[in-house]
Amino acid sequence: MSKRDKAANQLGEWYENNKENIGPANSQAGVSLINQRSSLTIGEYGPIPLADYNLLDQLGHFHRERIPERVVHAKGAGAFGYFEVTDDITQYTSANVFAEIGKQTPIAVRFSTVAGNLGSADSVRDPRGFAVKFYAEDGIWDLVGNNTPIFFMRDPILFPMFIHSQKRNPVTHLRDWDMFWDYLSLTPMSAHQVMFLFSDRGIPDGYRHMNGYGSHTFSLINKDHQVTWCKFIYKTDQGIKNLQPSVAETLAGKDPDYALRDLYNAIAEHNFPTWTFYVQVMTAEQARSVGFNPFDITKTWPHAEFPLIKVGKLVLNRNPTNYYADVEQIAFNPNNMPPGIGPSLDRLLQGRLFSYQDSHRYRLGVNYQQLSVNRTLNTVQNFQRDGFMAINNQGGAPNYHPNSFGGPDVDPNVKKAYPIPFDIQGMEDYYDNFYDEDNYAQARVFWEKVLDSAARNRLAENLAGTIRLARADIQERTLAMFENVHTDLGKLLKEKMGAKVIHM
Ligand code: NDP
Repeated sequence: MSKRDKAANQLGEWYENNKENIGPANSQAGVSLINQRSSLTIGEYGPIPLADYNLLDQLGHFHRERIPERVVHAKGAGAFGYFEVTDDITQYTSANVFAEIGKQTPIAVRFSTVAGNLGSADSVRDPRGFAVKFYAEDGIWDLVGNNTPIFFMRDPILFPMFIHSQKRNPVTHLRDWDMFWDYLSLTPMSAHQVMFLFSDRGIPDGYRHMNGYGSHTFSLINKDHQVTWCKFIYKTDQGIKNLQPSVAETLAGKDPDYALRDLYNAIAEHNFPTWTFYVQVMTAEQARSVGFNPFDITKTWPHAEFPLIKVGKLVLNRNPTNYYADVEQIAFNPNNMPPGIGPSLDRLLQGRLFSYQDSHRYRLGVNYQQLSVNRTLNTVQNFQRDGFMAINNQGGAPNYHPNSFGGPDVDPNVKKAYPIPFDIQGMEDYYDNFYDEDNYAQARVFWEKVLDSAARNRLAENLAGTIRLARADIQERTLAMFENVHTDLGKLLKEKMGAKVIHM
């Protein structure tokens, strides 16, 4: 892209703002550099002595510039802003972020694609990550959502299998449509999400024109220690806009960083994107009687029964000052839930409560929460110490508990803001719900009630476009899965596939 937009002019703008303060070049230790254009040599044509510290330092640092990319959600864009409460939900939660109307909490957001590597194109058909970090007064709240309210599986043990099937073939290192459709057609619980993915919203026009969803069922706990199950939804105020597949394909070649650029320029031009933030709530009694498992992330909560309750606004008004520091190093952890917000019986969420922190320890190191973009605004006081890159090692405070030197001890009031023990009984076992849950009812509603006939046609066209790239038996099985969603979808897909079904 050659257009001289805000992103293209970043360096020029930086120079204008900083030219008065640019001093001489020095090392990370602040020691002046003697030369940065040539190495030290013995004579004009002679070898380089080991004493050329600066050369060794440049190369040694360069070799270590890359850290592992995220195993999923590698390609992303980030921005900063705030969350503002517009409506009162203190009847449900004592969380500080929702304390009063008008209250603002600083936030960081990272948007991403899922399957592609770090340099991959933004305009691909893929779910989008939409993770929000709230720097709340009582600790970080990480709402690690997507642009869809549902997901491909309800049990975390399936996650690595699913991701393997969507990423590269281990031999050819290519995206593999046999792997892709083989896994999905053998996993009918994914049908609902696959239909979202192949509908118009499967390729959003950048990151500003899509909704976000916390996706999981969470709990809200109020000051009287009452628990309400909830979903978090953030709807774009820019309006939903999607890319036509042909446009998206062209963009993937012409401007693979389309969404990153769009977000950066919008914010740089003070065209700040906003989302209206809602919750859906469900009482424990409703959860027992509702006709589906409300903790199953392959299902939505119907709006007619569980209407959206407006809560606030997310506003993004500041670009990262450094991509690596602010976006590559940002780390979201679904465990980070300040008092008043908690997890639920959602199994996939329970798996994620482990996976995220474990991934960050690997990718960024054990002290990743001490990096500036991840650091909480309140003071950290506990008994964790040491490890690589201990930036805040808590000085001379005691590193064991109990101690006679002031603790710190747990605030007894905090327990009231976490979920009451849920009454669950049963035998420990591996309960197989792979096939016996209803995997099709809500997907059918999506087909029948949400999509009009033109959108259905596009969905079938999009599905057929890649199903036909799989082996014939996998194509047949995939068709059968969508027939189970709705016979009309099966029929339309068959029509679209027609002679294109490849028999091997
Ligand atoms: P509603 O008619 O109240 O809501 C339909 C929902 O579908 C809206 O949230 C709408 O988002 C969303 N939507 C529209 N087009 C698409 C698309 N191409 N891809 C994904 N979402 C889309 O119905 P119900 O609440 O009774 O739900 C009916 C079905 O709608 C569900 O079975 C599910 O498939 C789908 N759905 C439901 C959601 C929920 O939380 N209840 C959320 C998203 C989808 P918007 O309002 O922003 O246009």
